[in-house]
Amino acid sequence: MSDIELLMNALGILGMAGSVGLGIWVVFLISEIKQLRLSVENLKHTLDEMDEQAKLVVRTDIELNKAQEELDKKITGLYTLQNLSRQISSTFDETQIFSKVEPPLLADLGFEKAVAFGWDDRHQVAQVHLCVGFSEAEAAAFSPLLEAERNHFEKLIRDEAAISSISPTIDQKFRQRICAMFRVTSFVIAPYLPKEGNKGILLAGAENADTVINEGDEELIKILANQIGQALDNARLFEKTWQAHQELENRVEQRTKELSQAFEEIKRINQRKNDFVSNVSHELRTPLTSIKGYASILLSGKLGAIPEEAHKRLEKINKHSDELVQFVNELLDIARIESGRVTLKISPFNLKNIIDEVGDMLTVQMKERQISFSTVLPDAMPEIMADYSQIKRVFINLVNNAFKYTPNGGKITVRVNIVDSGIQVDISDTGCGMPEDALDKLFTEFYRVDTAINQEVKGTGLGLAMVKHIVEAHKGKIWVKSKLGMGSTFSFILPKSS
Ligand code: ADP
Repeated sequence: MSDIELLMNALGILGMAGSVGLGIWVVFLISEIKQLRLSVENLKHTLDEMDEQAKLVVRTDIELNKAQEELDKKITGLYTLQNLSRQISSTFDETQIFSKVEPPLLADLGFEKAVAFGWDDRHQVAQVHLCVGFSEAEAAAFSPLLEAERNHFEKLIRDEAAISSISPTIDQKFRQRICAMFRVTSFVIAPYLPKEGNKGILLAGAENADTVINEGDEELIKILANQIGQALDNARLFEKTWQAHQELENRVEQRTKELSQAFEEIKRINQRKNDFVSNVSHELRTPLTSIKGYASILLSGKLGAIPEEAHKRLEKINKHSDELVQFVNELLDIARIESGRVTLKISPFNLKNIIDEVGDMLTVQMKERQISFSTVLPDAMPEIMADYSQIKRVFINLVNNAFKYTPNGGKITVRVNIVDSGIQVDISDTGCGMPEDALDKLFTEFYRVDTAINQEVKGTGLGLAMVKHIVEAHKGKIWVKSKLGMGSTFSFILPKSS
């Protein structure tokens, strides 16, 4: 074999080897490319997934922002509503209630326009109570338009139902007419329903076409209408209470006037009665004094001896004249004290002196009838400022009554206590006592309890009336506790300085 052939063979072998190598490399390359393509596919898939996720994130972000905006809107709405509610419920004047829905507050609720209207018995056409966002001319033109839709509105009031431009059940033609009537693009209508009085409609509308209302807005306007209804109820209740109060005040005023007129009349009549009693008593006293004088002269025998029988009669005349004089004097005293004609001679003194004097006065008679008289006095008896002789008359009358109405062997006790409002005196006896129904009449003139003992005991029924006048003239008070057959206690309080 020649060199050339050898070379050719070598080249052939080399070529074959190269071809095999190339083939292997190509195969290798192809598998690499496949690998790469797979990786690219995977990458693309991953990128697609990432894209999807990115889109999801963006979408979620937008939704979140939207939700946040809505939440903000709701919170603002709720704050505004709270504010409005406060304002509305701060007045009891019906017209003021509507005027509280002011444009800025309405704007915070997301609306520019609002109307409130209703029908009442006094007017033929709808009455507009609130008109925000409209000119006066526009507002004036509402009545016929509202009349045209009256059935729709009245149905909402009857059904107590709110409706909005986005309500699925809204009649589209009605929606369009409302939008045209109030020149709004969206609206909410809610009835306000006070329990008493006229119900009505609240309409809130937005004129901006970009404004989107939702169920939340519907809810807010419903609540606002509710608040208006409640405020109207409160206002009417307040009005009623106020009127009742005024009526009551007028009646009280009228009655007070009548009473004071009646009181003046009574005072006048009483004065006339006192004058009459004084005059008659005076007139009686003069002839009485002479009757008594002549009886005494005759009794003295200065005008000659008097037969026994005549003597007895004269003594009776004398005794009865004495009684009559005492009666007339008591009448005069009461009339004088009552009409304020007695001036109290106020001076300081110790009550113990009076009690001792009155006790001494009756000692003999009490002994005769075995009636015991005792006193219970405080260790240090304070002085009082009062009219000595008048207070003595009080004691004489009360102790004398206790004596008169207590059977033999009984007991009379005078107690003195120092109390907050002055000095209290209690005069108790173990006598006949009085029935319950007699007690409140006891201090009236000429009143005598209708009991068997009273038929025997003489009296005029004037003593206690006089005692009451004297105690009250000293700014004190007097009362009695008694039970039939169980004795009595007459008590009075005198201020330390009358
Ligand atoms: P009189 O002159 O009749 O005693 P008073 O005004 O002093 O008039 O008393 C009115 C009536 O009150 C008496 O008639 C008597 O029925 C009743 N009365 C007064 N004090 C007593 C007493 N201590 N016990 C029972 N009854 C009394």
